[in-house]
Amino acid sequence: MSAPTAEQTGWNKPFPGLDADTKRFWDACKRHELSVQRCRDCGAYEWPPAHCGSCGSANMEWAEVSGEGTVFSFVVFHKLYHPGFADEIPYNVAIIELAEGPLLQSNIVDCPNDEIHVGMPVSVVYEDISDEFTLHRFRRSDTT
Ligand SMILES: [Zn+2]
Repeated sequence: MSAPTAEQTGWNKPFPGLDADTKRFWDACKRHELSVQRCRDCGAYEWPPAHCGSCGSANMEWAEVSGEGTVFSFVVFHKLYHPGFADEIPYNVAIIELAEGPLLQSNIVDCPNDEIHVGMPVSVVYEDISDEFTLHRFRRSDTT
């Protein structure tokens, strides 16, 4: 599958990279599910797809996770590196620690950048950006 163009979709930012290892992740996002690999031997969750970081096993399966997590780290970009983000400067890029353990890169939405903090509880939300791709984002979950 090749990435669709901005002309086809109206999406003028880069599309996620897609390969055999990550296709299952993006397919799950399209269904509005968050899925990472889980070790069949010890039960540890792993992202990105790899051997188990806990026991070294290669006996991995895909498993849906809760979509709950906390902000592990984040940055706010003030400099424009891609014209597609011109209307969003400054924007955040966050590392989310999923409740199941793995760290996942994403963005925090519907929250002012100056309110984002490490340890802030978040829940996954989905943004359908084309017929083929849905992005996972996270929304603060400790306020209504
Ligand atoms: Zn394991």
